[in-house]
Amino acid sequence: LGPTTSQLRYREDTFGARNYAPLPVVFSRGEGPWLWDVEGRRYLDMMSAYSAVSFGHSHPRLVRALTEQAGRLALTSRAYSNDRLPLMLERLSALLGYDQALPVNTGVEAVETAIKAARKWAHTIKGVPEGQAEIIVCAGNFHGRTTTVVGFSSEAQYRAGFGPFAPGFKTIPFGDADALETAIGPNTAAFLFEPIQGEGGINIPPAGWLTRCAEICRTRNVLLIADEVQTGLGRTGKLLAVDHEGIRPDGVILGKALGGGLLPISAFLADERLMQVFRPGDHGSTFGGNPLAAAVASEALALLADEKLAERAARLGALFLTRLQAIDNPLIREVRGRGLLIGMELDVTRVTARTAAEWLLARGLMTKDTHDSVLRFAPPLIIDEATLMKAAEVVGDALGDLAR
Ligand code: PMP
Repeated sequence: LGPTTSQLRYREDTFGARNYAPLPVVFSRGEGPWLWDVEGRRYLDMMSAYSAVSFGHSHPRLVRALTEQAGRLALTSRAYSNDRLPLMLERLSALLGYDQALPVNTGVEAVETAIKAARKWAHTIKGVPEGQAEIIVCAGNFHGRTTTVVGFSSEAQYRAGFGPFAPGFKTIPFGDADALETAIGPNTAAFLFEPIQGEGGINIPPAGWLTRCAEICRTRNVLLIADEVQTGLGRTGKLLAVDHEGIRPDGVILGKALGGGLLPISAFLADERLMQVFRPGDHGSTFGGNPLAAAVASEALALLADEKLAERAARLGALFLTRLQAIDNPLIREVRGRGLLIGMELDVTRVTARTAAEWLLARGLMTKDTHDSVLRFAPPLIIDEATLMKAAEVVGDALGDLAR
């Protein structure tokens, strides 16, 4: 028998920085939508590592791609080309419809890539004086944790103590197109937004907002850049969440599920007219575009199309949302979502989302609390209907017990 939960947690807390406060369980195995802890208990994964595990745990096709490639070639750096990256880039372009992609590793790195692209475009093409480019962002955003990116977060907790921060960002309310119009000035390079705010609490903007933002950015010569790290690749029931309004941003940021839940890979996608700002040596990363990540991402993109996972997310998400909305419980204020990205707003005067998440964990459901009030559900897109409907029943029963 291996170490117990408490022994492992003790070591984690002793030898690891305490930059997370995980729920009291230690996982050691995953398969499809299921996870097992070190004591052998089974849980249903209803958060998918913040949407990264869209294909479920250890999908056989992805594991095969990973292990075969690991045994062949894993890393050369971009100083030399590898035989996997070109195929992944071509597939990304074919699927998403952008000329080019710049591969990096994590979501926030791809956000940083987009910021650099936008600033250099503003300077070299739009004629904004060097160092004056401005980027407009939304209140309640989450784009990652680097100092530049937390610097334009509206969340005090992400920023407190970490300044000074980079200038050049302007915040407007999420979902307010008039505010965007007013905020744009001659030095505005880009509007960076999440089509649905994930970490912000599954905030869905009013219908028509994206369409108007796209129109405003086009007429004012401002880049429209969508952070689809959490919402992209089928999660919301379309390939990209911006597809719900049929708009085409100038740049798209992908991460999380791109690595099939097996490894980190992210990318910034744009047409050549924007991507041409990057010249050799301008930007990159040792592991960015490595053949191992490229092989897995290629297979993940193929899987997404082969198994029609976006359509699946739309169908199952609608069913699940209806079930959750039908739960009659005084603790629930609202259930909202799109596809398999769903948030349940609780009445914090009666229960916190953290307590609800702990309550559900004790009943074998792994969810995620966001802020104090929102419980998030984002199961793997491969989940079967019966399992998902059973999960809705467990949520109803558990919250029923909690309300008593
Ligand atoms: N953008 C969005 C919309 C995200 O949800 C996240 C992660 N939750 C990130 C960026 C950052 O990704 P990473 O943690 O891989 O840096």
